[in-house]
Amino acid sequence: MPLYDFACRVCDREFEAMAPMDRTENICTCGGSAKRLLSVGRGYRADADWLPSVTAVADKTSPAPHVRAFLAEPSRANYRRFLRGEGIRPQEPGEERARRPDPGPAVAREVLERHKARRGLV
Ligand SMILES: [Zn+2]
Repeated sequence: MPLYDFACRVCDREFEAMAPMDRTENICTCGGSAKRLLSVGRGYRADADWLPSVTAVADKTSPAPHVRAFLAEPSRANYRRFLRGEGIRPQEPGEERARRPDPGPAVAREVLERHKARRGLV
C-alpha cells in the first residue's frame, strides 16, 4: 500500500498514512475525518521516472517559490530551477562527472601485492 498525506478537517493536522489507492478518507488521531491530499510524484506523469523520488524528499511545507513550483509540476525544467533555488548547480547536458585518472600499472601492481599479502598468498 502506498503512503499518502492526509489533512484533518477538524484539527488541520497533516499526517502520512498507508492507504489503499482508492481510499481518499482517513481518521485523524483526534477522531476527526481527514481528506487525502493531492500527492506529488505519485500518479503524476513526470517526464523522468526518478523525479518522484526527489519530490518525496523535498520539503512540502516550504513556501519558497522554487519548491512550490517543483512540487506542483515535477518536471525536469522545474527540477533544475529547484536545484538552483536550493543552491545546487545542476549538471549541464554533456557534462560528465570527473573521472579518476588511470593510476597506471605501478599502482595496480602495488594494490595486487598488498591484496595478496593480506590474504597470505605470498
Ligand atoms: Zn484531527
